[in-house]
Amino acid sequence: MVLKDEIYKLVQLQEVDSEIYNLKLRKDTEIPKELTNLKNGFESRKKDFEIFSEKLKQSQLKKKEKELDLAAKEENVKKTQGQLFQLKSNKEYQAKLTEIASLKADVSLLEEDVIKALDDIENADKKAKEEKQALANEEKKYKETETQLNSELAEIDTKIKTLEEKKNNLVKDIDKNVFAKYEKLIKTRSGRAIAAVNINTENCGACNMRMTAQTINEIKMYDKLVLCENCVRILYLPEDFNL
Ligand SMILES: [Zn+2]
Repeated sequence: MVLKDEIYKLVQLQEVDSEIYNLKLRKDTEIPKELTNLKNGFESRKKDFEIFSEKLKQSQLKKKEKELDLAAKEENVKKTQGQLFQLKSNKEYQAKLTEIASLKADVSLLEEDVIKALDDIENADKKAKEEKQALANEEKKYKETETQLNSELAEIDTKIKTLEEKKNNLVKDIDKNVFAKYEKLIKTRSGRAIAAVNINTENCGACNMRMTAQTINEIKMYDKLVLCENCVRILYLPEDFNL
């Protein structure tokens, strides 16, 4: 077993594993989060609309009550006016006129109330119609995006399957001990077990830790796996593989 050859195989394997890692991240974390946000956003808007519609319904009922009240009060004014002719004394007559004036003032106030309620309802009704349309558009968009994300999930499954087959083929050819070390590291290092050292800056390509000259020399010898002291990833120099 020539370790340098094995490391080159790991570099190729890492490319496949990084793709798998990113796809799994998208599948298990990002897409479910997007789906949840999408659903919550729509549900919340829908709920707001339902609350608004319920308030509008209540306002319409209240307006109806006020209209009935107004009709009753107007009827009462007419009835009271009718009583004027049955009164015998001027004092009673004056008292009845005062009563009528007071009732008319009530009617007038109530009329203003009804007009205002009508105005408010008209505005709210317009707003409700607009929001209903907006909500329908939103639902359409939501369903479309949901379908899109679900088909992306299915595509990801296919891609992962293909990549895993590719991985298995590469692994067959790698020394068991070297692969075991790599596989152990990759599980705890965000899907990345091997890191290139930039020969110009002498930094670890994964964590940016500066390498000592001694470490660089050790890497170049390729007689043992050299790990980054900081992020504990297998190190290599791309130049050594014409990469
Ligand atoms: Zn590092």
